[in-house]
Amino acid sequence: MAGRSLIGSDTQLNRQSYYEASVQRGAGRPGLQGELVVDALVVGGGFAGLSAALELAQRGLSVVLLEADRVGSGASGRNGGQAIVGFASGQEPFEAQLGQADAQRAWDMSLEAIDLLDARIRRHGIDCDRRFGYVYVADSARKARALREEADGLRARGIAVEWAEGEAVQGLIGSQRYVAAAREHRSGHLHPLKFALGLARAAEAAGVRVFEHSPVTQLRRGEKLVAHTPQGRVVARFGVLAGNCTLPAYGPAVAPEIAPRVMPVGTYIIGTEPVDAALAERLLPGDVAACDNNFVLDYFRFSAERRMLFGGRVSYTTMTPPNLKEVMRQRMAAIFPALAGVPVEHVWGGFVDISMNRAPDFGRLGPNLYYLQGFSGHGVALTGLAGLLVAECVAGQAERFDVFARLRHRRFPGGPLLRTPTLALGMLWHRLRDVL
Ligand SMILES: Cc1cc2nc3c(=O)[nH]c(=O)nc-3n(C[C@H](O)[C@H](O)[C@H](O)COP(=O)(O)OP(=O)(O)OC[C@H]3O[C@@H](n4cnc5c(N)ncnc54)[C@H](O)[C@@H]3O)c2cc1C
Repeated sequence: MAGRSLIGSDTQLNRQSYYEASVQRGAGRPGLQGELVVDALVVGGGFAGLSAALELAQRGLSVVLLEADRVGSGASGRNGGQAIVGFASGQEPFEAQLGQADAQRAWDMSLEAIDLLDARIRRHGIDCDRRFGYVYVADSARKARALREEADGLRARGIAVEWAEGEAVQGLIGSQRYVAAAREHRSGHLHPLKFALGLARAAEAAGVRVFEHSPVTQLRRGEKLVAHTPQGRVVARFGVLAGNCTLPAYGPAVAPEIAPRVMPVGTYIIGTEPVDAALAERLLPGDVAACDNNFVLDYFRFSAERRMLFGGRVSYTTMTPPNLKEVMRQRMAAIFPALAGVPVEHVWGGFVDISMNRAPDFGRLGPNLYYLQGFSGHGVALTGLAGLLVAECVAGQAERFDVFARLRHRRFPGGPLLRTPTLALGMLWHRLRDVL
């Protein structure tokens, strides 16, 4: 795996995921053959696309969802499973661009996203190892000051937060690495692939026709949208480009004009053998998920069977980092020495679609084509809400969608060839700041 492009070996890397190893996918869904004429077409079978498809079908539209690979095979079936309040960007872009009132609406919708996730789990009976509780940690005095501000911000927005520093940190996380920690219980975690597969079943029960192995290779726009796949086509009144469609990892671009607004950044996770209950409780009391506040962050939690799922390390070049498993194991052991000897059984990765300001990028490409991208590593909950907002829009209520669509997003500089190296250089500077 060392040094190979994640884009080239993407499917292979996903096969080593703990999530894929812990579900029964069944026979799979057919590919699209021939022509279908429907009300709405959704491109992408991740959380965002599945959510949009479900909501559109629940509003009485006929819906086809086209997935290039298999449902949940993108970021949605590979991620850290951390369902977190707020946005990767924080509130700043919202406040600066939209003013306090709409920034507050956006924040409220981020909380609604968590509630929606749980409402769907309950309503559709999705068994996905849902847990509540989240610890944010800081590993230096400077980072502790930043974390304190974040914790105060959460409190000001009505979230109860416990704060700990010095020795008291051990009460929230069993690691000597951190100088401060903040815990809240609105955020939490789940098994993302089980959730994605459950959402797909719910969408199908609502009438959505889901086709796998059906990449959209061309999309003609107009009053009627016409999407081509290798063996079929879909004609639709409305379309939703849902999730990472513009990332090169997922096949030909169908919307080249929005591609430069997101950048694929590789992030990786290892999964250990299960550990005993007492050790898991000592390291992460209350079965919380955790992340630090470094620019290249570590994020971790235990799975339901108490495997440490430890995420971190990034690639801005789309190349899989060399010695990934060992490097990740060492990062984990530096935080939790008690895990140093626990065998690592899984290693995988995927792309997050980061936007320049790390705020989500939702919008329209004409009157009947919507897109959802730029979740910036913070999409487990927000994608669900994004799908709901698109469906509201199609049904004639654009107000909530437009809170997000009004955000301006800059393009990454450098064009298709130089964009990635330019980003890699920029990010190196941030990483150096964390290290120094
Ligand atoms: C390793 C990793 C860890 C992460 N950890 C977290 C976390 O802990 N918490 C959090 O909130 N977020 C996390 N994220 C981010 C989160 O997973 C994403 O924001 C979210 O899953 C995005 O969902 P999506 O539906 O937009 O995209 P995806 O899940 O990537 O789905 C897009 C789908 O579209 C399909 N597709 C693309 N192009 C086409 C085409 N032309 N035709 C047909 N289909 C197409 C793809 O095959 C893919 O299945 C993580 C991401 C990764 C990769």
